[in-house]
Amino acid sequence: MPRSSSDNPTARFSPELEDAILTVNAVAATSATGPLVRTTVERRDLGPRDILIEIRYAGICHSDIHTVRGEWGDVAYPLTVGHEIVGLVAEVGPEVSRHAVGDRVGVGCMVNSCRECANCRAGQEQYCENGNTGTYGSIDRDGTVTQGGYSTHIVVDEDFVLRVPESIPYEAAAPLLCAGITTYSPLAHWKAGPGRKVAVVGLGGLGHLAVKIAVAMGAEVTVLSQTLGKKDDGLAFGAQSYHATGDTATFEALRNSFDLIVNTVSAPIDIAAYLRLLRLDGTLVSVGAPPEPLPVPVFALFGNRRSFAGSSIGGIAETQEMLDFCAERGIAPEVEVIGADEVDEAYERVLRSDVRYRFVIDIDTLR
Ligand code: NAP
Ligand code: ZN
Ligand code: ZN
Repeated sequence: MPRSSSDNPTARFSPELEDAILTVNAVAATSATGPLVRTTVERRDLGPRDILIEIRYAGICHSDIHTVRGEWGDVAYPLTVGHEIVGLVAEVGPEVSRHAVGDRVGVGCMVNSCRECANCRAGQEQYCENGNTGTYGSIDRDGTVTQGGYSTHIVVDEDFVLRVPESIPYEAAAPLLCAGITTYSPLAHWKAGPGRKVAVVGLGGLGHLAVKIAVAMGAEVTVLSQTLGKKDDGLAFGAQSYHATGDTATFEALRNSFDLIVNTVSAPIDIAAYLRLLRLDGTLVSVGAPPEPLPVPVFALFGNRRSFAGSSIGGIAETQEMLDFCAERGIAPEVEVIGADEVDEAYERVLRSDVRYRFVIDIDTLR
């Protein structure tokens, strides 16, 4: 492993990193049903364009739970998940030019892509025609399965490492790397802004950021949550109105109301009922990813020429744009910081919709 970069005189040696392959502490799932366990994972030797990141905080995304429980398909256990990663650059390969030792950086849901297909060339690496390399559970270019951020260090190609502005507190920055970009991207694409009425379905990790970001973009925002239990929070995040989807009157009262609905719900919902809340040329975009299909009756699309769409995270350039936007606008997720031994309990709370609004693991508890 290169210990320093000729381009980067501040690169430092670290005594714990003597071996060519780095073995680092981590938390991993060993089955779909068992608790997570403390273990170690191996990180590859630094390539010329690689960065070794000392991880400080890792957010808990509902996708981590879908994945480790096998809801999205087979898993190669043991697997360390986590794709909301912030930390410090600890070492850089000799050709690294974008980041230097000591920089505050982040890594989101992908760590590589082909870089050659039309989508990669357009800066939409998340839609790489050859498949992007996920931060965990993907086959890496060395043939190993990628391991995510519930660990003390990670090695990532510099092109997939983001700059985290100083003004965003470290622990609050972590959820932006997935929840932030996953909501920013469709809000930007479907032009949330002044004069546009946006509804956010589900006030969890993604949903609460969708509200804050859509409000900052200038849209008029409504929260659609199962109950009114989080109404004060939703209004404090800047939403103009808040309705319970457990009350059928909501669906009558809000018929033909919205230009854009962002569905962040992790479970199946009645898509047709929500489509009817769209006004002319409105779009319902699902970012929530339940494993079950969501049936769509076409007649719910005919009225008002409605669209039903999906959206996956965002590209690297757009992720940087989102981080800079959040820094400028003072947007930060609401987080509850936990230790590495509290992840199972946090998962149970997320599954009960008892999260306010993102759990973030203090990775110092793994050292
Ligand atoms: P989360 O924090 O658990 O939030 C999901 C919210 O959905 C809950 O807080 C709850 O909000 C609502 N909800 C949960 N179960 C429900 C049910 N049975 N019926 C109605 N509403 C329900 O999860 P998250 O981390 O934000 O992730 C949300 C989803 O997005 C997950 O499926 C995740 O895998 C997916 N995701 C997709 C992408 C992408 O690129 N498309 C990226 C990241 C995550 P209320 O309590 O307010 O009702
Ligand atoms: Zn995620
Ligand atoms: Zn590609």
